[in-house]
Amino acid sequence: MVACPNCRSKDVGKIGINQYYCWNCYIELTISKGIIYTHQVEEDGSLSSLDDLFSEEERRFNA
Ligand SMILES: [Zn+2]
Repeated sequence: MVACPNCRSKDVGKIGINQYYCWNCYIELTISKGIIYTHQVEEDGSLSSLDDLFSEEERRFNA
């Protein structure tokens, strides 16, 4: 079960292979090698990384 590192919500939907979307705070999550990478979708459709906001501890994915 994936929990959003940003809002801790478990309202996270799968949108692709290792890709998830948080319906609570509207960020995209990508899981690679046990680490969650976070991206915000900007108004123009580009993605900006939010990874700086979280420690590696917070971004670790515990399957
Ligand atoms: Zn969230």
